[in-house]
Amino acid sequence: MKREKTTGFLRDQKSIRFLTCPTCNKGQLKKGKRKEIMFGVDLGTYPAEICDHCHESYTDEETTEKILQAAKDKGIWGLGKHTRITRSGNSLAVRIPKKLADYLGLKEGMDTYIHPEGDKIILEH
Ligand SMILES: [Zn+2]
Repeated sequence: MKREKTTGFLRDQKSIRFLTCPTCNKGQLKKGKRKEIMFGVDLGTYPAEICDHCHESYTDEETTEKILQAAKDKGIWGLGKHTRITRSGNSLAVRIPKKLADYLGLKEGMDTYIHPEGDKIILEH
C-alpha cells in the first residue's frame, strides 16, 4: 500500500514540467532543438527545452536514451575517465586509458606534441 503511494508520487513528479529553469531560477524554458556534441563529435540534433537565460538544456528520458545510444554507436561512450597524475623523474606523467589510446590511435613510442590551451592540455599526434 505504502509502496504504491510512493510510485504514484514519483510518477506525478516526473510529469511536472518546469517552466522556470531549475539551474538559474531566472530564465523560462522554451521548446527548441539542440545539437549534441560529445568530445567534439556531433551526435545529431535533438528536441530539448532550453533556458532563455543561462541556455542550459533539458531533454526527456527517451531523448537522453537516444543521445546515449548515438554516443555508443560512434564509439565515444566511456572515453572520458578520471586519471591520476604520477611522477616520472622531474616530470609528471598521465596514464592514458587503453580505450582512449585505441580510439585516438596512440601507440607507445609515438612522437606527440603537448601544449596548453587555456587551463587544458592538448596532446597532438
Ligand atoms: Zn537557466
